[in-house]
Amino acid sequence: MLLELKNIKKQFKNNHVLKGIDLSVEKGEVIAIIGPSGSGKTTLLRNINFLETADSGSMLFREQQIDLAKPTKKQILWARRHMAMVFQNYNLFKNKTALKNISEGLVFGQNKSKTEADELACQALDQVGLLGKKDFYPSQLSGGQQQRIGIARATVLNPDIVLFDEPTSALDPELVGTVLHDMKTLADKGQTMIVVTHQMSFARNVASRVAFFSDGEILEEGRSDEIFDHPQHERTQQFLSAIA
Ligand code: ADP
Repeated sequence: MLLELKNIKKQFKNNHVLKGIDLSVEKGEVIAIIGPSGSGKTTLLRNINFLETADSGSMLFREQQIDLAKPTKKQILWARRHMAMVFQNYNLFKNKTALKNISEGLVFGQNKSKTEADELACQALDQVGLLGKKDFYPSQLSGGQQQRIGIARATVLNPDIVLFDEPTSALDPELVGTVLHDMKTLADKGQTMIVVTHQMSFARNVASRVAFFSDGEILEEGRSDEIFDHPQHERTQQFLSAIA
């Protein structure tokens, strides 16, 4: 087991957004988290990556036990060295080129030399077919290209797990496929991933397991074919038939 989340709870004022989430992820698994908007999916990822602090709950990650309500600075830095996040709105540095967006994390996060970091960043850009854009700034790139750079930036650090927060939902429909293609390539290479997504074909065909979120809880979880072909919970059935 690479990651084990236990009883994560989070509320904003009196809005109980996470009501006790348990989720385990084995190395190499791709977990898709699906469910209605506002059900807490993004908040869960932000709690795992310490962008929000949970009210209670724990995370066992690479055999290190972390209290998510009281993580130490050292634990946060350590965990962030081993996990990466891809955001809905790419979150690239606007004043840095594609190359620098990827290489800076290697210099500051992993103490690589500038030359080595730039070389690794070039390789990562080449893998997604964007080496020719290395000196471009985010504003000169399409949303799809920006997100593919976001994915290259996350994965160049060789993280144990990548958290994807609706990575295609800000994209024009014709650009969605390129980003999903990169994600599938990563999955095929054995990258462990948790993917919050509205792309049901990705969840069905690429994810090994699917968790259905509703109102701050995982209502149902299982192999992707089980969830899509034989959803047990009425709420899951409703959700899937509404988007079919
Ligand atoms: P989902 O990803 O499933 O669409 P979110 O996790 O984004 O859901 O949001 C779940 C709920 O938490 C929503 O009601 C949202 O308004 C609320 N929420 C999320 N972040 C914050 C925040 N920083 N402050 C207050 N409320 C928040």
